[in-house]
Amino acid sequence: MSDTLYCYCCRKHHPKAQMRRFTTRTGERWRCLSSIEAARARLDERDAFGRQQSELNRQTALRLTERMLAPNLKYCLP
Ligand SMILES: [Zn+2]
Repeated sequence: MSDTLYCYCCRKHHPKAQMRRFTTRTGERWRCLSSIEAARARLDERDAFGRQQSELNRQTALRLTERMLAPNLKYCLP
C-alpha cells in the first residue's frame, strides 16, 4: 500500500498521483484532487449565488429609483 496516501478529507486512501499536500494548522496533510475540485465547485456555486443576489439587489434598487423618479418624469419630458 505504498502507492497510496491517506486523504484527510475523504478519510480514505487514494493513489499517490491523485494526492496534493496541504499545510493545515495541525501540520501537513494530504488531500485528493477530487476533494479539492469538489470544494472549489462549492465555492464557485456560492460565488455565483452571491453574484445573482447582488444583481437582484441592483435591479431592486434601480426599480425603486425609477419609481421615485417616475412622478417627476412627466415634468421633465419636453
Ligand atoms: Zn479524498
